Amino acid sequence: MKSNTKCLKTGYLSGNGEPLALPIYQSTTYTYDTTDEVGKLFDLATDGHMYSRISNPTVAYYEQKLAALEGGVGAVCTTSGQAASFLSVFNIVTAGQHFIASSKIYGGTFNLFNVTMRRMGIDCTFIDQDASEEEIQKAFKPNTRAVFCESLANPALSVLDIEKMADIAHKNGVPLIVDNTFPTPIFCNPISFGADIVVHSTTKYLDGHAVQVGGCVIDSGKFEWTEEKYPGLTTPDESYHGLTYTKSFGNAAYITKLRVQLIRDFGMYPAATSAFLTDLGTQTLGVRMERHAQNALTVAKYLEKRPEIESVYYPGLESNPYHDLAMKYMPKGQSGVMSIVFRGGREAAVRFMDKLELANNVVHVADVRTCVLHPASATHRQLSDEQLVQAGISPGLVRLSVGIEDIEDIINDLTQALDSLN
Ligand SMILES: *Cc1c(COP(=O)(O)O)cnc(C)c1O
Repeated sequence: MKSNTKCLKTGYLSGNGEPLALPIYQSTTYTYDTTDEVGKLFDLATDGHMYSRISNPTVAYYEQKLAALEGGVGAVCTTSGQAASFLSVFNIVTAGQHFIASSKIYGGTFNLFNVTMRRMGIDCTFIDQDASEEEIQKAFKPNTRAVFCESLANPALSVLDIEKMADIAHKNGVPLIVDNTFPTPIFCNPISFGADIVVHSTTKYLDGHAVQVGGCVIDSGKFEWTEEKYPGLTTPDESYHGLTYTKSFGNAAYITKLRVQLIRDFGMYPAATSAFLTDLGTQTLGVRMERHAQNALTVAKYLEKRPEIESVYYPGLESNPYHDLAMKYMPKGQSGVMSIVFRGGREAAVRFMDKLELANNVVHVADVRTCVLHPASATHRQLSDEQLVQAGISPGLVRLSVGIEDIEDIINDLTQALDSLN
């Protein structure tokens, strides 16, 4: 099956006389005839649901779809993208250990890694993902356990050289975790280029309609977990009477541990209705992404020609420094998101945003509706103009997330807002 078909024909499939749509199993618990059966579930000796903090049939169907879309052996849904990023790392990196992350990652993930996880005793080194292999190698330490990057960075829109990064990680005996939120599995499949774990904020395009916050972790099942580096996976877990994940679950060891140990203990599991809503969005992911990419390229080419705009960052443009990488890793499209910088700086950016009528001014991105955000006034408000430049965000930068409205209406709205600046 190809991606569009997988969006519709994986996960829940109705049998004879059953509902066509994914049923919402709104139940906290599940009944069993014998105590023995329940005991076996607690021993992880049989498959089955026991409590909706750990798994639920509706969510499980959506997890199957996500694993199929990314080409993984299993997936676990989480209450948010932040929860997915945290669990993906914490599943294999513990107190006193270290991991490496790209400095281009989403601001929320940066804060999680740079502040909150440090408080837990987990050290992170941020690297320039475009640096040479030699340079990146310098960040590795004997206790390094993972590398974390975004396939298409939010909001810098840099394209990751996935093969290069996977190769460096593997030479050091650690997995590459890729946040694939922006291109989605429609445009990019990091696992096919060597990534070991994929995470998503399903809040963005996978839902697509701004109705449900969520996340997921997908395991490729390809990484060889060594006892030297990952005893948590290869030696007995006392909380399961001495069960060893790699022995009992083979190439699904990582994703099984993430669910039965971390989801069990932290409880970051979505409700059935949440999974239903996100699954509904994902059914049309393919057609939406095609339109997002087509509209975004037209908008990017238009904005490049406008005198009010200093620069347009969109990897689909031939003038973009990441264009070659984009053509290798996400050739059919990248996303609907771009960053634009105004010659008139902060003042022009704000006046432009306030003049928009069709586009929504929201703290959101990757929605069916065209929307805009001014980082200097919103997500990065606490920084001075000087600090903004250091963070790679110029005061005149606007993040534009192009929706699936008719392109004429989008261009008309942008045009009237730009004209009003003169
Ligand atoms: C939004 C976002 C996140 C965080 O996801 P939430 O669902 O908001 O917690 C992580 N990574 C990227 C690339 C994002 O855009």
